[in-house]
Amino acid sequence: MRIAVIGGGYVGLVSGACFAEIGHHVTVVESAKEKLDVLINGGVPIYEPGLEGLVHSNVSAGRLQFCANISEGIKDASVIFIAVGTPTRKEDGRANTEYVFNAVRDIAQNVKQSVVLVTKSTVPLGTGDAIGKIIQEINPDVTIDVVSNPEFLREGCAIEDFIKPDRVVVGLQSQNAREKMEQLYEPITKNGYPLLIVSVKSAELIKYSSNAFLAMKVAFINEIANLCESSGAVIDDISKGMGLDHRIGRNFLQAGPGYGGSCFPKDTLALINIAADHDCKATLVEATVKSNDERKAQMIDRVLYACGGSVKGKKIALLGLTFKEGTDDMRDSPSIPLAESLIKHGAIVKAYDPEGMDVARTILPSEICYTNNVSTALHDADVAVVVTEWKEFCGLRPEDFASIMARKVIVDLRNIYDKEEFFAAGFSYYPVGSVPVE
Ligand code: NAD
Repeated sequence: MRIAVIGGGYVGLVSGACFAEIGHHVTVVESAKEKLDVLINGGVPIYEPGLEGLVHSNVSAGRLQFCANISEGIKDASVIFIAVGTPTRKEDGRANTEYVFNAVRDIAQNVKQSVVLVTKSTVPLGTGDAIGKIIQEINPDVTIDVVSNPEFLREGCAIEDFIKPDRVVVGLQSQNAREKMEQLYEPITKNGYPLLIVSVKSAELIKYSSNAFLAMKVAFINEIANLCESSGAVIDDISKGMGLDHRIGRNFLQAGPGYGGSCFPKDTLALINIAADHDCKATLVEATVKSNDERKAQMIDRVLYACGGSVKGKKIALLGLTFKEGTDDMRDSPSIPLAESLIKHGAIVKAYDPEGMDVARTILPSEICYTNNVSTALHDADVAVVVTEWKEFCGLRPEDFASIMARKVIVDLRNIYDKEEFFAAGFSYYPVGSVPVE
């Protein structure tokens, strides 16, 4: 099938490349010139494992191309995906849908053939209806079926998630849309991955409910981690003991510095507003947001404690800046409030992240010094703080730190090391969710 994907970001580019990989002809429309230039010149503007190779092979095979404007991109498409951003609207926490509606208007003004128009962006309940009305006003003569097909991929393993999804959720209301969407996903669903067909509204809400539920799991385990620290219980044992129960499951039960990224923070806030719009309470989601905000803000206290109450003039090495490993995404990362507080408290901060530093430079305090590798970040440091669980950090041993740091102090916000091993090597070690050793 010929499809167009509007937006060449994390979701648009991964979906576009994966749809091409399973045999469709895909045009990705990207309006940001700097990103489009990279794509047209054979590069990939984001870091996502495996994506560069997938893009190259599908461009070479003639199934994937890029362009700047919607009218050109949608010319021969029978299915058009909208995969533009829906960031938090600063003033009220709602999802900002202006990029979605701009794209819809542009599509409606330019489309000449019947198409299925699919929102892959995460959009509030009722957006599908609003899109239908806009199309009706602008271009009543062309048949456009509005479909919701929310995306569940995780950055860091996005390709695998797309090709082997737990489920594909499709919200639709016409037989034509159903046939097109079934045909589109057939190369995936024939391998046994389920396609769940529901109403447009239900599909829109499945996405928000899933993200809010996972965010709630993370906030929950972080609260239990605090209880462990105060009581002497061990959070990793609690996570294991809970996770072995199939009703609970193991995923998203790892204690850490709080959730971040481009989805959980914005989708929880948006869901609170969506519920309010429908005169419903979202008490659990509100508590999740509050709990996570507090969690992120508290991470500085752990570094202060490890430094005996003050970080003024102390050299702090931040290992990792992205909100999780495997991505260059810095959006709402827990490293942001931590780095800002460290600078405010007078610390001298060196930071290293394998993929996130280019973006970090544009959003973190300018006082931070970035290094090209872990060793340079650790050199002469008083404290090393593990913020992101990059594999590169997981493999380090006590001697890798001891030989270059000024003092043997580690604050591990991801519990990636063996506490006893580091203690035996003379370190003071401050994990999350169990008592420190010093
Ligand atoms: P992103 O910011 O990385 O990408 C969006 C892209 O759309 C940008 O490159 C932007 O320049 C482009 N764009 C905006 N308006 C355009 C237009 N009119 N024409 C062409 N291009 C346009 O965002 P993302 O992370 O890919 O997220 C996209 C959507 O998918 C959001 O709604 C998000 O909530 C959802 N989502 C994201 C993830 C994730 O892990 N990133 C996962 C699931 C769902």
